[in-house]
Amino acid sequence: MTLHTGRHFLQIPGPTNVPDEVLRALSAPTLDHRGPEFAALTRRLLAALGPVFGTSGPVVVLPSSGTGAWEAALVNTLSPGDRVLFFETGHFAALWTAMAERLGLDVEIVPGDWRHGADPEALAARLADDGAAGGGHAIKAVCAVHNETSTGVTSRVPELRAALDATGHPALLLVDTISSLGSIDYRHDAWGVDVTVAGSQKGLMLPPGLGFNAVSEKALAASRTAALPRSYWDWAPILEANRQGAFPYTPATNLLYGLDVALRMLADEGLPAVFARHARHARATRAAVRAWGLEVLCADEREHSGSLTAVLMPPGHDADKVREVILERFDMSLGAGLGRLAGRVFRVGHLGHFNDLTLAGTLAGVQMGLQLAGVPIAAGGLEAALAVLREEGGNA
Ligand SMILES: *Cc1c(COP(=O)(O)O)cnc(C)c1O
Repeated sequence: MTLHTGRHFLQIPGPTNVPDEVLRALSAPTLDHRGPEFAALTRRLLAALGPVFGTSGPVVVLPSSGTGAWEAALVNTLSPGDRVLFFETGHFAALWTAMAERLGLDVEIVPGDWRHGADPEALAARLADDGAAGGGHAIKAVCAVHNETSTGVTSRVPELRAALDATGHPALLLVDTISSLGSIDYRHDAWGVDVTVAGSQKGLMLPPGLGFNAVSEKALAASRTAALPRSYWDWAPILEANRQGAFPYTPATNLLYGLDVALRMLADEGLPAVFARHARHARATRAAVRAWGLEVLCADEREHSGSLTAVLMPPGHDADKVREVILERFDMSLGAGLGRLAGRVFRVGHLGHFNDLTLAGTLAGVQMGLQLAGVPIAAGGLEAALAVLREEGGNA
């Protein structure tokens, strides 16, 4: 094992680097979760979460990974045998789809190539066939991953909503924002989303361990008749206890201290600036990839992710070998290719607690790693990224 000095570069697209202020908050003594101090914290957090999701409705906080928040979204709104529509956009979409199957839902998949987002035109066509004359609104929910972390492709959620509206289809819209919330523009209310699923360890700059569901009026109404079995994930007792600043079980107290600080940091920077920062770092990263003569996996200019970039390897070169060299020599972790992309892509996370020089260091490590692994690249990738960072203003 090589001895490394300085900080590890954690440039996977989640978990992300946790700011020192958040780490310090996490280490505060654990409070009585039934006491007045904790109730005040809960109320403050629930109020501060709304703007991050773009909602004035309730946000349910769960002591879980993002996967638990997926399950909560499904079991609170659907009944056994309900038809649900998923898009084949990548590894995380596939995992959520498999969960829906295991829960006894009737899953239908809109095919995709893992280089594009959820297709609004395909959705409109499918919904048109599911009108009163066709299946009679058999589809109960449309489920999409906003930012597919396995591919670096961001789906156009407002266009999915428009497809539902254009056909007057009553299906619920459930959206996974686990790797986009707090990084890429997202608006639960304005985009007419019914359940937004999120997690703590990506754009929210916390360690793993908190899941979230932002819930629309329509989703709340659906939860009153939804018949999938649920207990721990049931929204009703959580929302009830939240009114008193409490939870129906012991919450993840210390993670909530961290959330308090992370939400303040996002508010201080301002969400529009946060989104612009991520988009700019993503542009600089793409400039590097293209100057190296490599290909970005995302195939639609409208759908590039602000939070990560997936880079395709030239034929005959193994992405995992490049990641291994970079970890060993430069102490930097990059994201692996997942599922069918294993070995074919590596993923550069540029989200969360991140600035221009973090990106410069990251791309310097990637460039040297590619060269050391014998991948043929053109010179000037890092310079191309630095030019974007230099020309487009400060470290905003
Ligand atoms: C990370 C991630 C998940 C999984 O979250 P866990 O916390 O690992 O359960 C799901 N969807 C997306 C888009 C993700 O990025």
